[in-house]
Amino acid sequence: MTKSAAIIGGGIGGLATANYLVQHGWIVDVFERSAALPDTGTALGMWPEALVALDAIGVGDRVRSIGSQQKHGLFRRADGSTLAKIDIRDTAVLISRPRLLESLASTLPDGIVKFSTTIDNVADLGGYDVIVGADGVNSRVRTAVVGHQVDPEFLGFSALIGRAHGTTDTVAETWDEEKIFGISPRDGGVTNWFAAYRQPADGRMPADPMAFLRSNFGHWHSDVTELLDRIDTNSFIHYNVKQMPKLDSYVRGNIALIGDSAHAMAPNLGRGACETLIDAATLGQALVSHDVDEALRRYDRKRRKHTQRLLTGARLMSKAAMSTRFNGPRDAAIRVVSKFA
Ligand SMILES: Cc1cc2nc3c(=O)[nH]c(=O)nc-3n(C[C@H](O)[C@H](O)[C@H](O)COP(=O)(O)OP(=O)(O)OC[C@H]3O[C@@H](n4cnc5c(N)ncnc54)[C@H](O)[C@@H]3O)c2cc1C
Repeated sequence: MTKSAAIIGGGIGGLATANYLVQHGWIVDVFERSAALPDTGTALGMWPEALVALDAIGVGDRVRSIGSQQKHGLFRRADGSTLAKIDIRDTAVLISRPRLLESLASTLPDGIVKFSTTIDNVADLGGYDVIVGADGVNSRVRTAVVGHQVDPEFLGFSALIGRAHGTTDTVAETWDEEKIFGISPRDGGVTNWFAAYRQPADGRMPADPMAFLRSNFGHWHSDVTELLDRIDTNSFIHYNVKQMPKLDSYVRGNIALIGDSAHAMAPNLGRGACETLIDAATLGQALVSHDVDEALRRYDRKRRKHTQRLLTGARLMSKAAMSTRFNGPRDAAIRVVSKFA
């Protein structure tokens, strides 16, 4: 008999899961609160394991053809000297969030994604064999899985991100006390950048983002200052960086959590979207091979411990990157991380 799934959230995890299940004959409804796919968002690094998941989902080649291939990454100090160089074992692909979402949406039949539809309570969704919570870091579905509300923790720093005019071949992060500036290529003939900085509590975008960037990063090495001159001032996005506490389970009854709703992590390892895609492929494979109870058990067993280890690793990396003192251990941490790329 044909099985059915309700997916809450039409972001990276929701669209990826929908693709897998639709390809295997499931009836799928994706409920997305936004009116349309976003046209802004940062460049995301797709590591080799995420590309394998994208292949299983059916859009790997499309993502490779749009994104830019990366074999190296550079960590630098504010004066421009090199902290570490990473050689990536297999090629990673950088793709912007809008292009990744477009790729995932383009292979779905029309009408599967119900835009402008917010689901506040999964109890309102009767009749589906499985419900997938792919509703991001502030998930509502999570309450139904955990039994009470669990909020993500603010990690004490914020990020401004955006585009700059013109292209670059560089993938580099520059670290100084409590500040990071990142530069990477991006599809569409532009450059991706982010600036992370310490913030005492949940904060808002600086009133004058350009003045803020110049006063905090305007004295750094020339790649950063030249980039500041090219910033597209219509592209600012502001994030307060948050992390999920570790959950005892990602599943309950016929409900499964995937992606940031289960394991939102600091962006410092660049793994959140990658792990979300692997969640989607793993859950999809389990659901098309087993009954729902068994599939959800297998999914939780395969994904929870692994993603929670990465959550800890991303937290450590963020602490090292944003440290005020002890630059020796910080520089050592980065060299250790570079060996895992
Ligand atoms: C600055 C920054 C840089 C990053 N860089 C990287 C990187 O290089 N590599 C990487 O792998 N990861 C990176 N990440 C992490 C990555 O962006 C996330 O892990 C990923 O987007 C999670 O996908 P998701 O589908 O779980 O959630 P989301 O992409 O947040 O999607 C959730 C969707 O659910 C919808 N929604 C929410 N609530 C409801 C509701 N009640 N009803 C209906 N719809 C709802 C939202 O509108 C949204 O579309 C970065 C994150 C940040 C903040």
